[in-house]
Amino acid sequence: MDRVDCVVIGAGVVGLAVARKLAQAGREVIVLEEAEAIGTITSSRNSEVIHAGIYYRAGSWMARMCVSGKHALYRYCSERGIPHKNCGKLIVATSPKETEKLQSIKAHAEANGVLDMQLLAGDAARALEPALACDAALLSPSTGIIDSHAYMLSLRGEAEDAGAAFAFHTPLIRARAKGGVIEVEAGGEAPMTLQCSLLVNAAGLSATYVARNIDGMPLDRIPPSYLAKGNYFSCNARAPFSRLIYPVPEPGGLGVHLTLDMAGQARFGPDVEWIETIDYEVDPSRAERFYPAIRKYWPTLPDGALMPSYSGIRPKIVPPAVATQDFLMQGPRDHGVEGLINLFGIESPGLTSSLAIADHVAELARP
Ligand SMILES: Cc1cc2nc3c(=O)[nH]c(=O)nc-3n(C[C@H](O)[C@H](O)[C@H](O)COP(=O)(O)OP(=O)(O)OC[C@H]3O[C@@H](n4cnc5c(N)ncnc54)[C@H](O)[C@@H]3O)c2cc1C
Repeated sequence: MDRVDCVVIGAGVVGLAVARKLAQAGREVIVLEEAEAIGTITSSRNSEVIHAGIYYRAGSWMARMCVSGKHALYRYCSERGIPHKNCGKLIVATSPKETEKLQSIKAHAEANGVLDMQLLAGDAARALEPALACDAALLSPSTGIIDSHAYMLSLRGEAEDAGAAFAFHTPLIRARAKGGVIEVEAGGEAPMTLQCSLLVNAAGLSATYVARNIDGMPLDRIPPSYLAKGNYFSCNARAPFSRLIYPVPEPGGLGVHLTLDMAGQARFGPDVEWIETIDYEVDPSRAERFYPAIRKYWPTLPDGALMPSYSGIRPKIVPPAVATQDFLMQGPRDHGVEGLINLFGIESPGLTSSLAIADHVAELARP
């Protein structure tokens, strides 16, 4: 049986960042990916926003990894010429009640280490974005957007330069952990069995499934799994905004917000739709809820401008009734299995946090 030092399951943005980090630390790494290419699942079905770290619970992994990951990601992109834009975002209040909330959002952001938020009166916000309707707004200067595919290609290239190998069409079927050695059985076109001393489960939506198929992994340490789909609508009218526009969040979600891609094209969403099985179809009738929500801050959105676009699915580990979840990153001290790291619930801001998550995995992997 072949033996390798580290196996990473999944070549999404997190698996790629982890593989790069471990390989650059001098470890021998093979990445097993069941799809035909890198980043084809959640990592290519998101908003491509570099989040500032405003809303996450203070002290949570999400808050900490988002803020440190954001700085690391901007640095990474600038040093390598990866397309990104520090365009900023406005959180807009369209009623006196929402205006009151802006101050507490700012205070919450500051508790997370996001210290550059600026409260703006309606006129000051409109000086930045003349088409905006709002009573007041909160400017987040450190929010931005990124070409996530260019970023993932760069991570893969650097992982390979440091010696990492990739096996596509190669799903992990099961693994067996015993005495510090993990035996990994992979299927696909060229089935293989490998022994490794470190197995990193970065399988995204399938991370809980993968964990359940690791013999030796205590089942009571595996969180439940739920799916929360986020639907996007594109806009066939030119949106007159150069920053991302978010309403004041409502219970259960961030509200219908506008993000921009690197070409300046606007899209709206994602909303939240709890589903039982994976299905990426966007139901056009959901646009009915988008129009009135968007017109609160962009009153001139033309009728018929919204077109169903794409969707992504959040790997939830808490049920709908629980408002927030956190990243759940388990090392041997958490589950007792030597050489195993599980990454559960890596939903947004997982892209922003990817370099910080990789650093944390490297820490957990230290003997
Ligand atoms: C709607 C939506 C919007 C989002 N917007 C943002 C945003 O704007 N900014 C931000 O920071 N984050 C955002 N996120 C979060 C971000 O997209 C994810 O956190 C990130 O992509 C997760 O990456 P991953 O590598 O963990 O998972 P994935 O990208 O899903 O990768 C997991 C990989 O594992 C592979 N795999 C699964 N099972 C196996 C197996 N058995 N064997 C081998 N391979 C396997 C899959 O094929 C896949 O390639 C958003 C998420 C969603 C759903």
